[in-house]
Amino acid sequence: MADVPADAPDGEPKISKRAAEKAAKKAQAKAAKEAAKANASTDLATRPKDAPTAGKPIAKPTDTGPNLDEDPMDAAIQVGWLKDVYQIAPVGKGVTTRFPPEPNGFLHVGHAKAIAVNFGFAKYHGGHCYLRYDDTNPEKEEGEYFDSIKEMVEWLGYTPYKVTYSSDHFAELYELAEELIRRGKAYTCYCTQEEMQMQKGGPDNRGARYACSHREKPMEESLEEFRGMRDGKFKPKEVFLRMKMNLLDSGNPYMWDMAAYRITEHNHHHRTGDKWRIYPTYDFTHCLCDAFEQITHSLCTTEFRTARESYDWLLDQLESKLPFAKPQQREYGRLNVTGTVLSKRKIQKLVAEKHVRGWDDPRLYTLIALRRRGIPPGAIRTFVAELGVSDNTTIIQTIRLETTVRKYLEKTVPRLMLIPDPIPVHIDNLADDYCEEISLDFMPRDASMGSHVVPFTNTIYIDRVDFRAVDDANFFRLAPGKKVGLLSVPHPIECTSFTTDAATGKVTGIRATYCNSDTSSTEKPKAFIQWVAKSAHHNSPVAAEVRIFHPLFRSANPDAHPSGNFLEDINPQSEEVYPDALLEAGFEEVRSRKPWPRAGEGVESMHGGVWDVRFQGMRVAYFAVDQESTGEKVVLNQIVSLKEDAGK
Ligand SMILES: [Zn+2]
Repeated sequence: MADVPADAPDGEPKISKRAAEKAAKKAQAKAAKEAAKANASTDLATRPKDAPTAGKPIAKPTDTGPNLDEDPMDAAIQVGWLKDVYQIAPVGKGVTTRFPPEPNGFLHVGHAKAIAVNFGFAKYHGGHCYLRYDDTNPEKEEGEYFDSIKEMVEWLGYTPYKVTYSSDHFAELYELAEELIRRGKAYTCYCTQEEMQMQKGGPDNRGARYACSHREKPMEESLEEFRGMRDGKFKPKEVFLRMKMNLLDSGNPYMWDMAAYRITEHNHHHRTGDKWRIYPTYDFTHCLCDAFEQITHSLCTTEFRTARESYDWLLDQLESKLPFAKPQQREYGRLNVTGTVLSKRKIQKLVAEKHVRGWDDPRLYTLIALRRRGIPPGAIRTFVAELGVSDNTTIIQTIRLETTVRKYLEKTVPRLMLIPDPIPVHIDNLADDYCEEISLDFMPRDASMGSHVVPFTNTIYIDRVDFRAVDDANFFRLAPGKKVGLLSVPHPIECTSFTTDAATGKVTGIRATYCNSDTSSTEKPKAFIQWVAKSAHHNSPVAAEVRIFHPLFRSANPDAHPSGNFLEDINPQSEEVYPDALLEAGFEEVRSRKPWPRAGEGVESMHGGVWDVRFQGMRVAYFAVDQESTGEKVVLNQIVSLKEDAGK
């Protein structure tokens, strides 16, 4: 996937973790030195280089909620790492970036950072950002991923300048590979995987490194054999094209004669069909595609810092063939979210074993799941912006995202009365044709969202949690002989009796009195609850199914379960379903006026849908409409609870 080191191609020995870490440390020290130099020369030295930005909110929350006409990412781009990185090529509207996912899976919340950084940075500077599919591995790619990736970028509110494919450049890449051979900087190699590993210092990379005999063969021979690779004269893994880098003297494993081309086992490519038997590696392709697209700031995550040397090396070898300014790679810390699993293989397992509905199940953290759950794209961009962008990897609990979402929704979505588990209440002292129209603001104390009318009749519904058959001194809602206030209704009701199901003991109905001026009581109720009334004339109530979500895993780190099996950590109560919920009639207006929050200029999302019908179910949670809704029943997903600790 995007910004994750590509798997070593078949036959390419992997670099030992120790060697990679050592090289990464060295590269980091070098980068820090460079940055310090840059700071000094551009007078940016006032900010300490290692000042932590992660975890410190930049955009200040206000009482009025988020400013929907302002891109939340702008605040993160004006400071810290992204401010500094602009200085490597301060080209204003010439800023060109790219988001380069491998189309081999669905994007998840971690990718939201890569998307927001690359698209947000270009947008802020008035430049361009490409969506480039890095489709150089025909063995892993599937068509559905291409569509979904683009849709998620657009859903997050970004528009790619152009959608491109590494495979658009296969012919040019091939020509440049020949050129590299002609310049004595690449050679065909017949060594086996084991042999190559030994050349790189053995399995732990600690031994002496040495070159194979193929390295010094005449250029003409390599050229002929490379053409032979192209023309199908060799089997997969029989021969590679390797770059002649700095195998013997460099401490950086990325300089140890990396493969540039390999012959794949399955070579049918979704775009170029059967035209090619050989495919370029990530290390050969990436920097050259950046150059073809004239990328000015090639922004990726810190795992690639060690690879920067090979990125620059290849561009330097071919510089005269690339008539543009050399792209500059810079690396920021990735976003890791804990309390869930993000790996493709693990999510596949959850789906296959039916622990979840699919890749878009609202309990997952793929972007399609977050969209289905109703999380607004602007809240995701706010989340990324608030965490900030720096050299450091950000490790954050899923709950942190929920806090941001809750804050984002608080002032931007309307409020409605929703009863997840209704009990009918018959009000005996109101006539069958009694109907009082009560005006409710969609947002209390804020007229700008408008208001609507709900009917109040002699049959209403309240939630089961708001009634107790056996009263308690500490319970202030409805119980036999007790009064409770109904939100926005002038007078309280008092319970006179109730009925239960003989078999289950469950309360099936309540009888009550409306304590209006005809009755003697003037005592003020201690609590107010939400309610909906039956009125055919007002199409009230609206039938709904409510799905309340809890974390899918019990621990903050499902991967660390003592059994070694993350499935053992699954929370069996991660979803509560209320199939017979009821919604007030104001829902129809909320539905017709979507999107909520309104489409501001800060984040204008394409790919709107049912998930844009969002509201606060008063005293319950925030909800969005699910795609499984029908004409008879609205299905609602809980986006987040009203309070942090609720439902935990
Ligand atoms: Zn060899």
